[in-house]
Amino acid sequence: MASLENLSAAHATLLVGILLELFVALGWLLVAALLAPARRAAVQWAGFAFLQGLAFVVYLNMGRWPDIHGHAVSNLLLVAALVLQVRGLQVITGKPPAEHALLALLVFGALIQWVWISHEHSAWRMAATSLLASGLCGFAAVAMLQCIRHESAHAPRVLGAFLCAPSAIASGLLVIRAIFVLQHPERVIREDSLNQSLGVLGSMGWLFFSVGMSLALAGVVLYKLQRKLSQAATHDALTGLPNRRAADDFMAHEALLAQRRGAPLSALMVDIDFFKRVNDQHGHAAGDHVLQTLAQLLKRRARASDLVARWGGEEFLVLLPDTSPEGAQQVGEQLRLAVQEAPFRWQDTAIPVTVSIGAATWSSGPFHANALIASADGALYQAKSSGRNRVCVAAPAAASIHG
Ligand code: GH3
Ligand code: MG
Ligand code: MG
Repeated sequence: MASLENLSAAHATLLVGILLELFVALGWLLVAALLAPARRAAVQWAGFAFLQGLAFVVYLNMGRWPDIHGHAVSNLLLVAALVLQVRGLQVITGKPPAEHALLALLVFGALIQWVWISHEHSAWRMAATSLLASGLCGFAAVAMLQCIRHESAHAPRVLGAFLCAPSAIASGLLVIRAIFVLQHPERVIREDSLNQSLGVLGSMGWLFFSVGMSLALAGVVLYKLQRKLSQAATHDALTGLPNRRAADDFMAHEALLAQRRGAPLSALMVDIDFFKRVNDQHGHAAGDHVLQTLAQLLKRRARASDLVARWGGEEFLVLLPDTSPEGAQQVGEQLRLAVQEAPFRWQDTAIPVTVSIGAATWSSGPFHANALIASADGALYQAKSSGRNRVCVAAPAAASIHG
């Protein structure tokens, strides 16, 4: 290595690269220690950064270690790093990693180095390694998009484009490099051992895209965390249904639309009959299972434009946009029958389940969510007191009472 005073630009870039990759690797290890959901992926990405740092070390010492075929080793380290990047993306998406395919690519990378190990074949070795690295970067770009889409089908396109840009651009540049090196080997392969196949531009480019990819991976983790937090804030952990807060937001939004269109908005308050007995006779786990099964049943039966939410312990709210009192009664009756006929089972024991339903509709005047819910509650009370397993509809005016 040159002395510090007269470091060449390529040496300086590699030195910065080593330090940067080391920090990035440490950062990922910190993420692995602190963030349980991202732990396994973060360990892969710590390896991604560490192996690239190691490749930089090998480049920096090229010519010092004549026996170790520095180019072959650093190329292989780069391929292994890219394999770990893809593996981490598959892990965080919840997919089983394509172990065999990734291992095959790694072995292929080693074969390329071995087949074209001699200096005369440098151009072929560089072209083949570049193509392999390009494929792996492309693989990573696609895996990043899949990861974002897996979190939310409505993920902003611009976010996906931003996150996969470093990998996708690197992939394209590596193809260009492969073609260029085959067409003009004399312009790429020079005698100077460090400049051979890398040079200042190469090392800076490599560093730039490598940091870009690590930032994109951090973006993937942040997006995943943000989705998890927002899911936890708006959904019930037991049933996976939207919670009361999400139902309030949905109601406020649908009320605006209903007022503008002059269309009615109905609510069904669904309450399990004698649910306490289910817990007492079969245990709390059986009760939880009944709640989950009922939640799925209600969701399956509802229209895509309806909202089924867990309102409280064993109470569910079904919001029916564009639905009249008669329509609400009909939907309520269908749901009541579907629950009565559904086979609820827990550990081979059948658990008979019925529900009582209170229906209320807003159709004109100022909208008050509390009034609509209070009306549905009042109708539910009627259904309970008149024998349960039935649907009662609130008087139309009741939903407009100011709450
Ligand atoms: P009614 O027909 O009048 O509605 O009677 P009920 O027994 O269904 O109503 P009650 O309000 O007396 O009891 C509701 C029970 O629901 C009591 C509570 O322990 C149970 N519960 C609330 N949340 C959960 C839950 O998340 N899991 C389980 N297993 N039970 C729950
Ligand atoms: Mg109940
Ligand atoms: Mg209740």
